[in-house]
Amino acid sequence: MNRRRRIYEGKAKILYEGPEPGTLVQHFKDDATAFNAKKHEVIDGKGVLNNRISEYIFQNLNDIGVPTHFLRRLNMREQLIREVEIIPLEIVVRNVAAGSLSTRLGIEEGTQLPRSIIEFYYKNDALGDPMVSEEHVTAFGWAAPQEIDDIMSLAIRVNDFLSGLFLGAGIRLVDFKMECGRLWENEMVRIVVADEISPDSCRLWDMKTNEKMDKDRFRRDLGGLVEAYSEVAKRLGILSESDNPVAKSGPTLVKG
Ligand code: UDP
Repeated sequence: MNRRRRIYEGKAKILYEGPEPGTLVQHFKDDATAFNAKKHEVIDGKGVLNNRISEYIFQNLNDIGVPTHFLRRLNMREQLIREVEIIPLEIVVRNVAAGSLSTRLGIEEGTQLPRSIIEFYYKNDALGDPMVSEEHVTAFGWAAPQEIDDIMSLAIRVNDFLSGLFLGAGIRLVDFKMECGRLWENEMVRIVVADEISPDSCRLWDMKTNEKMDKDRFRRDLGGLVEAYSEVAKRLGILSESDNPVAKSGPTLVKG
């Protein structure tokens, strides 16, 4: 089965050569890592849930005209994507103070920010993904000024869409991380949203209880990660109410 050529293996995903030129298969693993991979665990069912949640978000983004690399889901753990040249930046959008922003600036977690804030981090594991400014991005040629503009406007559109989507599910979008890539179409290059958007890369708090429904459950040893991700999927209408998220066979998914 896995005769396919492996293009890249990351902490939570593997990329295989796709069935047609210009495509790749993105495979979601059950591995969870944090603190630059110093903390690592395998959490049964996480990959299946992230594949499905990320599919749902990317398909909706495509449908509202926000360009992404996503083509279609292939199976429980895999999706077909367009091959893009990943821009080596993690783009973080924040609506509420949490995590590294709270630590760095001494702002209490949960404080509503005066407006959404976009930050860039240079994707480099050896350096621990340091925060960088637009000056660094353009000076070192990671992205051109026009590309930064495109990335910022995509980030705002994704944030607006996700905030509304999660609000409708009784969930507060505190912050999220996205990645972008360059997609070549004939002679044209355009910036599209790439990688994944899932509870691994978002902070999601229950609107009523403030309970964490994201990877902070793993980072902070709170337990119940698969249950929380399943709850996110259920509220988005991806999993049916009766599905038992921790059944031995893994979560049952509603046919899409
Ligand atoms: N994030 C991510 N991958 C990373 C770093 C951060 O997906 O390598 C996400 C994280 O889940 C959160 C947002 O980006 O939703 C902001 O993370 P933060 O800078 O607060 O870092 P952390 O507290 O996770 O170290």
